[in-house]
Amino acid sequence: MGVARRVEELGFTPLAMFVKHFHFNHVAGLRGFTRRFRDARVYAPRREKLDLLDPNTALGVLLVRGVQTLELRGGEVVELGPFKVLAVRAGGHTRHHTCYLVNDAVLVTGDLAAVRGGEIITRSREVGEMLKRRLAAILPGHGEWLIRQPLSLKA
Ligand SMILES: [Zn+2]
Repeated sequence: MGVARRVEELGFTPLAMFVKHFHFNHVAGLRGFTRRFRDARVYAPRREKLDLLDPNTALGVLLVRGVQTLELRGGEVVELGPFKVLAVRAGGHTRHHTCYLVNDAVLVTGDLAAVRGGEIITRSREVGEMLKRRLAAILPGHGEWLIRQPLSLKA
């Protein structure tokens, strides 16, 4: 199921999409998403699209050619309605992989962490530092999420 269709099923009108890295399995639905939700902005790590020596990234960049992105260097805070999204550049999985910390409570790690049996597994120093915070949830790019407090995904 594509991202756009899943978002519609959930009944959301997205304000934005945040790309963590351009591996094809994470961005294949981005073009469809931007066609369906024309008002949603797309934020992405600035240099990630240039890292074409990684074949997974090269394929992902090809799949999203023409999609307009607002580029992040890391350290920016994007304010969207009630949400404050901090971009945290955290290399390891790809050279410019970026995680996002939402409202100082929800950490979206992408492929830099996994949750197994309620434990967070990561080799990323930056993710490790953020895990010292009192986070409500950690959302890896694959597999289980770790939810410590109930979340409301609607504004
Ligand atoms: Zn990946």
